[in-house]
Amino acid sequence: MAKVLIIGAGGVGGVVAHKCAQVASVFSDITLASRTESKCKLIAKQIEEKQGRSIKTAQVNADNVPELAALIRKIQPELVINVALPYQDLTIMDACLETGVNYLDTANYEPLDTAKFEYKWQWAYQEKFQKAGLMALLGSGFDPGATNVFTAYLKKHYFDEIQQLDIIDVNGGSHGYPFATNFNPEINIREVTADCRHWEGGEFITTPPMSLKQSFTCTEGVGTYNLYRLYHEELESLVKHFPTLKKAQFWMSFGESYLKHLEVLGNVGMTRIDPVEFQGQQIVPIQFLKALLPDPASLGPRTKGKTWIGCHVTGLKDGKQRKVVVYNICDHQECYREVLSQAISYTTGVPAMIGAKMMLEGKWKAAGVWNMEQMDPDPFMADMNLHGLPWTVIEEPGFNLV
Ligand code: NDP
Repeated sequence: MAKVLIIGAGGVGGVVAHKCAQVASVFSDITLASRTESKCKLIAKQIEEKQGRSIKTAQVNADNVPELAALIRKIQPELVINVALPYQDLTIMDACLETGVNYLDTANYEPLDTAKFEYKWQWAYQEKFQKAGLMALLGSGFDPGATNVFTAYLKKHYFDEIQQLDIIDVNGGSHGYPFATNFNPEINIREVTADCRHWEGGEFITTPPMSLKQSFTCTEGVGTYNLYRLYHEELESLVKHFPTLKKAQFWMSFGESYLKHLEVLGNVGMTRIDPVEFQGQQIVPIQFLKALLPDPASLGPRTKGKTWIGCHVTGLKDGKQRKVVVYNICDHQECYREVLSQAISYTTGVPAMIGAKMMLEGKWKAAGVWNMEQMDPDPFMADMNLHGLPWTVIEEPGFNLV
């Protein structure tokens, strides 16, 4: 039985709040706080209707440490679940340290003015969390998150040594808009327009964004899609914690319409993250673009199709080469029926709830700052099966990845 404070009432925050509300034996007292409290209140109302539980709401500016600390002191949670934006990671970690509360997030810190996501800023908190006897769990979404746990699970049960990792993220769903992003548009566009980096031969190699693609056929009839190689933050921690990896890559599917729009928006400067002067005012083009695009939290009712996200690993077992894939398939409309969300927010919010559950139940308990693959994957994997993200393992799958 524990009190939690969830910060961020967007697409992911809504799912986390619904899923925590479903597990009353662990999450006995839930407060959802965000910059705009009306969004928290709307989610609270939906939770009352769908899950039959009432949760509390609050207003907070998570860029402001004293404001955060005051809210945490008032609520006295055991854990803060940060599903605001990556820009708030460090301020929320600071407030947790100041108030003696554990921390969890789903995306690594990114400075507002540089599209550069790296773990170095959060890893630098290791000693502070250790000294305070507190735990910070980083990246407990799907990717990062479940993909880190998948990798650890395959290593633990199927390999003596893992050598190549390919993380594959297919969104086979369609929302019917010519262009919309499935999670925060600003974060999404910063991610996919960044230079690609993949791990090979002991170093990260940089290539232009989207410059390598391959066709991939998902299992269970989810379909065939074009995958594009891009950099994703879990590669940084996975190659550190699995040093036998010779190659590690991240692949994501994109439709033609998405790519066409992104190219044009980039060419005309609409994805720029630096301020420009407009009619006597400073505006940041990507923030203006975000205001024009559909809110990801509104895509739920209209998104149809499935996601297919998994890890394909090759390596050695008993001196012999083998390959194994583990994946989850998630249906957008089923997610909507359960928690009024599309599958992208759902596949992020469920692992956030499970990571929190692991910490509150003491199954994952250690002072310091941790990535998901550093914890025992088994209890997390068991909970994925129970809480809406069942997974499948195939040994020697027929995939031939680049
Ligand atoms: P949204 O933009 O839908 O929601 C973000 C929420 O955070 C909004 O409610 C917003 O408030 C709130 N917020 C922003 N700034 C502040 C602030 N300064 N103080 C308080 N609240 C603030 O994003 P998503 O829900 O799509 O994504 C949430 C997080 O999940 C992001 O960090 C994203 O990177 C991560 N993510 C992780 C994935 C994974 O698999 N690991 C996949 C997808 C997302 P307001 O409504 O006022 O703007």
